[in-house]
Amino acid sequence: MPLYVTKPSLPNRERLNHYIDRIYETHHLTSNGPLVKELEERLQDYLGVENLLLVANGTLALQVAFRALGITGEAVTTPFTYVATASSLVCEGIKPVFVDIERDTLNLDPELITSAITEKTSAIVPVHVFGNSCDVGRIQEIADTNNLKVIYDAAHAFGVNYDGTSLLSFGDASILSFQATKVFNTAEGGAIVFKDKDALERARRLIQIGYSDALSEPSLGTNAKMNEFEAALGNALLDEFSCVVDRRRQAVECYDERLQGVFETQKQSYGCTKNYSYYPILFKDEKNLLSTLKLLTDKGVYPRRYFYPSIDEFEFLGRTSDNPVSNDVSRRILCLPLSAEISMQEVNMVCDLLLGI
Ligand SMILES: *Cc1c(COP(=O)(O)O)cnc(C)c1O
Repeated sequence: MPLYVTKPSLPNRERLNHYIDRIYETHHLTSNGPLVKELEERLQDYLGVENLLLVANGTLALQVAFRALGITGEAVTTPFTYVATASSLVCEGIKPVFVDIERDTLNLDPELITSAITEKTSAIVPVHVFGNSCDVGRIQEIADTNNLKVIYDAAHAFGVNYDGTSLLSFGDASILSFQATKVFNTAEGGAIVFKDKDALERARRLIQIGYSDALSEPSLGTNAKMNEFEAALGNALLDEFSCVVDRRRQAVECYDERLQGVFETQKQSYGCTKNYSYYPILFKDEKNLLSTLKLLTDKGVYPRRYFYPSIDEFEFLGRTSDNPVSNDVSRRILCLPLSAEISMQEVNMVCDLLLGI
């Protein structure tokens, strides 16, 4: 059996059926249905946040958040991320301006933000890479000084706390992705957590094609609604989520035990809890990475080069490529297989291959 970078979690079949039965009883399939409402409430409780809106996916979550907060012109963001962080800006007519990352945390370097701000800048869009918190205090200071909004791409940061509160409660909004490969998934799905209730209400209208209700006149909107089947998956998985986290933690501890000190890795930010979403390791150089990758894939192990290339190398994003740390890290980093389904035997097998045993 091949071992991929992740194996999406599926809830217990009977538990899921219990939710699906409710859909069959009501034939309510979408448009803010009862299971979406229930999942919204439960996630707010679970995550310890307010003003959470479920949406169709993480990419639309970003686009809707930008629109609800009136972001225009330029946004300062990171090149070390998944392409959706920046393509969502471009889709909304906003120019992404890349600044480099910190070599240890792999997050946007706050000290480089100010020099990238112009009179057109209206937002900072940082990413909590692999669930590791950005320097939220420093970023907020810079935003306040320059009158900018902060929208966190928290696609990796489900369930992470910082300084005793949810990491999602920082900034003007944080977005989550519930795409299949993420820690908590609904096959496709996502959420936006707003600081402000008015922004939430504007976003709710935006995702319903501009309608606030069926009778009033619409305004400009899009369709970014989550449907009831996705919410059924989410509710059922949330019922057993502590198990998912436990299993991932065990795998991470096993990797740590075998690989710590052997490979360079991401430095955990101070005051930030882990959600065991990814297991990145860094190689000496790209040549080293490529030869190890071949050795692993020959044995049916498929880690992923998250994130390669650094997205400032993409032509449609301007190809500036002048972020040396992001460019260097992206060539040397590999995320190892990690999921709630992986066995300790499989983790040990990956470690044996990496250590040449
Ligand atoms: C997965 C991901 C997204 C996009 O989420 P989708 O739900 O796949 O649209 C955005 N940003 C980051 C950092 C991601 O990892």
